[in-house]
Amino acid sequence: MTRCKFAAKSKLPIEFGDFEICAFEEDSGKEHIALVLGKIENQENVLCRVHSECLTGDTFFSKKCDCGHQLRRSMELISEKGSGIILYLRQEGRGIGLVNKIKAYSLQDEGYDTVEANEMLGFNADERSYEICSDMLSHFSIKSVNVLTNNPNKVKGLEESNVSVSKRIPLHVGKNEVNSAYLKTKKDKLGHLD
Ligand SMILES: [Zn+2]
Repeated sequence: MTRCKFAAKSKLPIEFGDFEICAFEEDSGKEHIALVLGKIENQENVLCRVHSECLTGDTFFSKKCDCGHQLRRSMELISEKGSGIILYLRQEGRGIGLVNKIKAYSLQDEGYDTVEANEMLGFNADERSYEICSDMLSHFSIKSVNVLTNNPNKVKGLEESNVSVSKRIPLHVGKNEVNSAYLKTKKDKLGHLD
């Protein structure tokens, strides 16, 4: 089992409040982030977004996906509630890495959908793992979480990693004319919910 250890923290004031940024490290050296607001230690039903890195969506607000908007909305909701945590996992492109994601995008330019493109490159449709979330949440002694996601497989993955999920809260943001086919594929082939 992959372990993930706390490594460093500091204040990180952002548009949505005075968050704290905590860095974690896997044995392999891979680094992940927890963004924390308010009192979450020893709490139940902590508002939580488990977000997989998407450089194109999170940083460039690409219209090909809805990641950047989901991240932003999660920050807003946590800010409104006054407390919560975002686990920012460095598993770009549903776990296939940045270069392979761009290769998959290139196949999508030719007309293949996101699942077909991943499979043509020799990957599963979704290579992500949520194993390390348990270690990250345990660091804060969080007892249970309300997860912001449309993806039931993420909830399942968290539960299989011994994270206690009280509730799934859907996130409906970031739809546009470019990503409608992509979002439909996520619904039809990857089981995402409305
Ligand atoms: Zn994305």
